[in-house]
Amino acid sequence: MKPGTMDPKYQILFEPVQIGPVTAPNRFYQVPHCNGMGHRHPNALAAMRGIKAEGGWGVVCTEEVEIHPTSDLSNYNEGRLWDDRDIPAHRLVTTAVHEHGALAGIELAHNGMHAANRMTRVIPLAPSALPVDMDDPVQARAMDKTDIADLRKWHKHAALRARDAGYDVIYVYAGHNMATLMHFMLPRFNNRTDEYGGSLENRVRLTREVLEDTRNAVGDTCAVAFRFAVDELIGPAGMSCKAEAHDTVAMLAELPDLWDVNISDWSNDSATFRFEPAEGYQTRFTSFVKGLTSKPVVGVGRFTSPDEMVRQIRKGHLDMIGAARPSIADPFLPAKIRDGQIDDIRECIGCNICVSGDNQAVPMRCTQNPTMGEEWRRGWHPENIAPARKPDRVLVVGGGPAGLEAAYQLANRGHTLILAEANEELGGRCLAESTLPGLASYRRVSDYRINQIQSSANVEIYRGHALTAAEILDFDLEHAVIATGSKWRRDGTGRRHRTAIAGLDKLPVYTPDDIMAELLPAGRVVVFDDDHYYMGGVVAEALVATGCEVTLVTPAALVSAWTVNTLEQHKIQSHLMASGVRIFANQAVTRCLPGTVEIACEFTGGTSALDADAIVLVTSRQSIDDLYHGLCDASCGTSSFGSVVRIGDCLAPGTVAAAIYSGHGFARGFQQSQGELEAQLFARELPAL
Ligand code: ADP
Ligand code: SF4
Repeated sequence: MKPGTMDPKYQILFEPVQIGPVTAPNRFYQVPHCNGMGHRHPNALAAMRGIKAEGGWGVVCTEEVEIHPTSDLSNYNEGRLWDDRDIPAHRLVTTAVHEHGALAGIELAHNGMHAANRMTRVIPLAPSALPVDMDDPVQARAMDKTDIADLRKWHKHAALRARDAGYDVIYVYAGHNMATLMHFMLPRFNNRTDEYGGSLENRVRLTREVLEDTRNAVGDTCAVAFRFAVDELIGPAGMSCKAEAHDTVAMLAELPDLWDVNISDWSNDSATFRFEPAEGYQTRFTSFVKGLTSKPVVGVGRFTSPDEMVRQIRKGHLDMIGAARPSIADPFLPAKIRDGQIDDIRECIGCNICVSGDNQAVPMRCTQNPTMGEEWRRGWHPENIAPARKPDRVLVVGGGPAGLEAAYQLANRGHTLILAEANEELGGRCLAESTLPGLASYRRVSDYRINQIQSSANVEIYRGHALTAAEILDFDLEHAVIATGSKWRRDGTGRRHRTAIAGLDKLPVYTPDDIMAELLPAGRVVVFDDDHYYMGGVVAEALVATGCEVTLVTPAALVSAWTVNTLEQHKIQSHLMASGVRIFANQAVTRCLPGTVEIACEFTGGTSALDADAIVLVTSRQSIDDLYHGLCDASCGTSSFGSVVRIGDCLAPGTVAAAIYSGHGFARGFQQSQGELEAQLFARELPAL
């Protein structure tokens, strides 16, 4: 298939879909997704949504949009439509989306007891008086009839404002356990005895009313979409597709113009690859919906393969292919299918770095797509990069994510590249880490770039030899980019211990690099995790699989504590516990003795001894930068050499997302002066004074 020609079997994906009074140009539907830009970064948000529309998504939706100060998600940074003054920011979004012929959708949200109202200080509202579902010392009050009437009025006003802002699809939201309407549906939150509690019909009453209100207010010109969580994966204690969800869909079947169905909570909906490796993992819960309604149904499941998308439609599971993360990793996914460029799709790896942006209230970033969140503030486009001012010859040393991305983008700009990799295979840490349990998808990060580079005439690849500074100086070129990565420290230095741990000569010591190289300990193994992202937990899991008796020690209160931000922490900890890993949280390794690891409580300092045959240190990493420094020294005063730069983990170890970003940013800024680089570090959005 030559680029520019769509495979006819994908034609079905490009059929228009009638959604109430509006028509989507195709079946690609970017469902509402959070992004950390929200109401504080309106220009950034609009540019990001506009790029999705440009990339071919037929419907592009907002994140959840708070409809009233009683639904204040601060410090999270979501959309806001509290009053008319919020409309102009939304017009930026709808204009950007409409420019490319897509429909703009808005997810109106009243979050009830999911919002602690930290900024507004209003008492949260809920069907029954219960604590909010955040850690805040805040309780929601039970809504009385006036509150219910108010909520209906607020939603209606928000719908009218949304219409005035230019939205085509307006949501009623009962998903993720984050919405008042869903709280009303669930008996564990709703113990009312009036007509809004008790029977399912009563618990669904408010949703029905809000759907009707929305339709009456805006239904002549806008489609009314209903986002509904059909299963919470907690059996009869919650919403279940085998029971009440079925009856709820049957009851409301024709009321919305579109059903957007998924599973709850957010960690199930946006399950990571580690816990849900299969594409379309939600269909087993959602596929019943189409049998109960004549209205179009959209669903998600990390869809990146057009064949799987077609299958979902042909099997009658879905009418529209919903995507949040696949549209983040590749905003041009639909366009690439349309243009016969299937191999150019940057597939989501299901790592949830994007989600961490929202959870930390900063514009989201993406492992696969370094331009995500940078569309406005740095002017980065996911598919376009400026041609070189003057084509140069550039050596990139290291074929990990940083080196691959730099080489790929420099070649895109028209430079001539030599890419040198010490190993026989390109991929660096992506290759190594993809052998660990649950991390196979990291391979997609390197594979995508290798594939692009291999089809580029500008890149020459050398493998299987570690270059020295002297060899590099012998090359006839002007620029060297050093992307030689990092290695895990063998001395225990990290956050908890700023210097080496005592007694490491008394016990066999391993690091994650050893485990990935299959140099494995045996017997009783202590994994000391002072890194707090995925590696400690993954190493523990890998060692259990080889028959080791594993004890995980961490100074944090939770295993793999940072993965709270990627919605995985509770899954990781319960999985390790179920696998038989002994866990000592709030404890640090203090020293090693023959056959023993001594640990101490982070609060009392009280020590205990763990019998151990080996220790694995997952504490921090060290840049492999000797080549960089050697080259700087050797090239100093050599007039032929223009620049020596280090990027990625060689500069400072970080996430794979950070390495890709580093390689990408370097390629964009190449040949620019320091002044130019500083001037465009990023644009800021300042509140009007
Ligand atoms: P990053 O995440 O910054 O891309 P990685 O550790 O994934 O870093 O990749 C670094 C790559 O550099 C590894 O594949 C490694 O084999 C390669 N490398 C390290 N030193 C040299 C060298 N002297 N010559 C060529 N390749 C090297
Ligand atoms: Fe997918 Fe990871 Fe990108 Fe999120 S950050 S879109 S999960 S690749």
